[in-house]
Amino acid sequence: MSAITKVVFTEIGQVATEKVDEPLPALKANEVRIAPAYLGVCGSDLHVLGGGHPFAKPPIVTGHEISAVVTEVGAEVTNTAVGDHVVVDPIMACMNCRACRNKRYNLCEPPQVAGFRAPGFGRSSHVVPARNIHVAPKSLPLEVLAFAEPAACAHHCVNRLPVDAREIVLVIGAGTIGLSVVQALRIMGAGHITVIEPDARKRQLALKLGAHRAMAPGELAADERFTGVIDIVAAQATITEACTKVVAGGTVICMGVPNGPREIPLPSMQRFERDLLSTGMYVPDDFDAVIGWLADGRFDTSDLITDVVSVEEAPVAYAKAKEPTSIKVLIKFPS
Ligand SMILES: [Zn+2]
Ligand SMILES: [Zn+2]
Repeated sequence: MSAITKVVFTEIGQVATEKVDEPLPALKANEVRIAPAYLGVCGSDLHVLGGGHPFAKPPIVTGHEISAVVTEVGAEVTNTAVGDHVVVDPIMACMNCRACRNKRYNLCEPPQVAGFRAPGFGRSSHVVPARNIHVAPKSLPLEVLAFAEPAACAHHCVNRLPVDAREIVLVIGAGTIGLSVVQALRIMGAGHITVIEPDARKRQLALKLGAHRAMAPGELAADERFTGVIDIVAAQATITEACTKVVAGGTVICMGVPNGPREIPLPSMQRFERDLLSTGMYVPDDFDAVIGWLADGRFDTSDLITDVVSVEEAPVAYAKAKEPTSIKVLIKFPS
């Protein structure tokens, strides 16, 4: 038996840190045992906590963004060893469907993502498939490494944007994901980057992290157009603005999670070949790319991690994450 600490959404709106004695499950040949170090709180976790997520409802062990240390490896594991600092891809793909055969594991249906339909990472010891593990250099602090998951979302998003659409880019929304997308655009060689964000402090951060201009909603000139627009909000108003502000032949990417159907101005989209693409999570290569960015400092998390809370105080972490000034809240597991 082993004492396991878990971060549990016990019912809608309620978070608890639970300590339970459980037998440690034996590892299969291709499995890895990990001890999470830092767990990131994500907007989608708050949706689950609030009861509004389509695929996951309390009671549930939460968590899909972690840095961790490997504590045991199965007999056939070759990609990691005990003591490695790692990120774990939370997509538990079936590996058999058409999407998985094409290595687009993020499109595996129904999605089995840790903390939603698959067991959450918010527990002091966990077993995961070796293929989900990405090893990071030990020089990279585990606190920074916990940012790999949102950074991977941003890398995937910019990869989806055609290279010629990266010339003049508009990003709508500058929370954790928007600020990560700004950095990914900068690192991946985008031209001019404009951000629209209501919060003045987040606008300042966007400028610091690579945006050339940051404006409040409504401040853009009526005739301005962009080769690429990334909508991180996915509200009706923002997707309408994205589709209206994109040049003929340009690309709109929906990155936000819409909470219902949205109307698209299809006549002007169709006639002038304005494309609407979407981006959802990431593939394994995205993790390897952003571990490199985090390790060499190109991707800066110093202003993005706004709170670090001990696992004993997990309810505080979710309360802080709901505050509009919060960017990324991390929960620290004892080492
Ligand atoms: Zn997330
Ligand atoms: Zn699959």
